[in-house]
Amino acid sequence: MQENHLGLLCDVGELSALLGTSEDIETFLQRIVEAVGRHIDAEVCTIYVYEEAIGELVLKATVGLNPSSIGRIRLRLGEGLVGTVLERGQMVCEKVASQSPAYKHFDDINEESFDAFLAVPILRGIEKIGVLVVQRQVGRPFSENDGMALRATASQLASAIENARILMAMRTRRKEQRGTDTITGLQMIKCQVASEGFIVAPAFVFDRDKTFRIMREHDFVRTYNLEDFERAMAVTEQQMKALQTRVEERLSGVAALIFDAHLMMLKDSEFAGAMVRRIKQGVNPPRALMDVASEFVDVFSHSENAYMREKSKDVEDLALRLCNNLVGAELQSSTDCSGRIVIARELYPSEMLMLSTENVGGVILVSGGATSHIAILANSLGIPMVIADRPRLMRLRDNVEILLDGHTGEIYLNPPADLVEHHKRDAAVDLEGLKARMQPETRTADDVRVHLMANVNLLVDATLANDMKSEGVGLYRTEFPFLVRADFPSEEEQFAVYQRLFRKVAGQQVSLRTLDIGGDKVLAYYDNPKEANPALGMRSIRFALGHRNILQQQIRATLRAAFGSEIRLRIMFPMIASVDDFRAARDVVRECAAALEQEGVPHYQDPQIGIMVEIPSVIEIIDELATEADFMCIGTNDFIQFMLAVDRGNEKVARYFLPHHPAVLRALKRIADAARRHNTDVSVCGEMAHEIHYVPFFLGIGIRTLSLAPRYLPSVQRAISELTVEQAEAEAAAMLAESTVSGVEAQMKCSVSLAATV
Ligand code: PEP
Ligand code: MG
Repeated sequence: MQENHLGLLCDVGELSALLGTSEDIETFLQRIVEAVGRHIDAEVCTIYVYEEAIGELVLKATVGLNPSSIGRIRLRLGEGLVGTVLERGQMVCEKVASQSPAYKHFDDINEESFDAFLAVPILRGIEKIGVLVVQRQVGRPFSENDGMALRATASQLASAIENARILMAMRTRRKEQRGTDTITGLQMIKCQVASEGFIVAPAFVFDRDKTFRIMREHDFVRTYNLEDFERAMAVTEQQMKALQTRVEERLSGVAALIFDAHLMMLKDSEFAGAMVRRIKQGVNPPRALMDVASEFVDVFSHSENAYMREKSKDVEDLALRLCNNLVGAELQSSTDCSGRIVIARELYPSEMLMLSTENVGGVILVSGGATSHIAILANSLGIPMVIADRPRLMRLRDNVEILLDGHTGEIYLNPPADLVEHHKRDAAVDLEGLKARMQPETRTADDVRVHLMANVNLLVDATLANDMKSEGVGLYRTEFPFLVRADFPSEEEQFAVYQRLFRKVAGQQVSLRTLDIGGDKVLAYYDNPKEANPALGMRSIRFALGHRNILQQQIRATLRAAFGSEIRLRIMFPMIASVDDFRAARDVVRECAAALEQEGVPHYQDPQIGIMVEIPSVIEIIDELATEADFMCIGTNDFIQFMLAVDRGNEKVARYFLPHHPAVLRALKRIADAARRHNTDVSVCGEMAHEIHYVPFFLGIGIRTLSLAPRYLPSVQRAISELTVEQAEAEAAAMLAESTVSGVEAQMKCSVSLAATV
């Protein structure tokens, strides 16, 4: 008996090796059930695969049951014995299955006589893959040993089945593109909103690493020649140049060189040249292409250097584009995501930019790991984006129709027409109407002046800010030119970008925030030493002070660009934790100004120098900071994160991220009070500033300047205009008097309903 079980495991090992040679997953699974059934001496052996996108276990292969049940028998989690096994993640062994309360009978599958039942879950970590079932005739029950062997088999199978599904996805792509879609029924998934907007479009699963891995092992059936390869090269070069032009048109300056690496590689003798040499030696062009690209990827991806590792993505991207242009017709595959909803595990800012240039329709990130900057970038680029904590969406077939509602955070797979209409109506934002409604000055109902400024990340935001009659730039997140590029921008490059922005908002005040990277704002090309706790690590102003030359270059570029630009320049430092931090950073500005003076380089004289209030430590030293700094700008996103110890980008703790927590509200009041005492300008620039239900609170504690993403300006202006300062003060006082979150919530609800009845 023991021997038999060892044999079973061993054979399954061999079977997983068969994966590469099975022509489809069905054949592969069928071979597995035959082998397992034989080795465990069971008349019936069946595999159910869990399709998370539809939340069902589907019978995929069987020996012993009616073959017509394949693909037909479906069970939800917890349904029947099989569903129960997967839901609980536990083995079920029954001497007489039909007597179990969980048993579910199906007509026509012929299992009546096989009542001895043993089933184990197939799991990978916490991921549910499927269920493996064996059945015998009554009177031949399964033993403990059988259970152990089946469990071990299932654990071996897990990764093979997972891989098999990927393989199947590739091989059946042709079929899918003809419209055969096994996902049936309407599915709604609730997600976290990262960037508002609405779109209905076909899915495009963006998993470049995996696609590349599969392509490097692909058996290219058709033979191509050198001319085909050269044609594909020419097409690819043209495509890259077109993308380059488009990115420049849209984003000017910031990401000018983003596709340069691709273009250079296309001309490189070690890359394209090596491919040509192999083709001339008789290698089929797609094989030569993938082989050379693989060698590059292997070298780059194992590099010690982050910049080089990042380059491996460029190689993969280029190779896939090239390969697609060469054999696309054969594979019926496409790298074109234009107008589609991209589903990805994670995205680098540069990838987001690339997708935007290719006119992506929307983005679904499935790992729940959106960095705040990816979300902010998607906002600036006008790409609707949600975060769905559903890694299984990566298995969705390309071209499945998706409705993405970036207002409610809902996505629907295969939405019916009436649902689309319904959401479309709700989501329609009349941007033109909003622009027209916006007044150049904002006043409360009792005529108190409030200043509405714009948060700007990319130059495109400044255009919308102007259209929305923003009064200035309350927060310019300068890390974006750094984040979307492939390397650190030079002083000259930064100078060009800042100058363009300053010219665009001439006559206005601009609060330029110095480089705020580290933590969740990762530069892909910079080798951040591994930190156990990057959110509390070498980031932001600490990074800048630790890399003085980078900060100096930025300050020099800023002061030079502001010269003669007719803006009122303010420089502010992020993540200031102490007066000492502030002084050290301010010294750098003074040194840079002195150096420019000495060099005779024209530069802006005496910018205001201020701080971002983002770290709770400043509360206790707020009077000193309010005295030293020319102004203070409250970054509620980080302030709340650190005050409440809640990761702002972690969907799992999103419900603890509470702007209306009494501690947050009272701390904000203390900052506003200190600013008033010392006559220091104070503003709010975190996301909280655009949430209209906090408008009364901010006005009530004396805040008179808010800075927000431009598209929210009209709604905030309207909320302000409907309120008197007296009302706002009463509301703020009532909120501040509450000592619990629920108390504040009740208070806010009460004032909303009061407002509605007025
Ligand atoms: C903030 O923390 O509130 C802020 C405005 O900065 P960022 O979102 O860029 O961290
Ligand atoms: Mg911040």
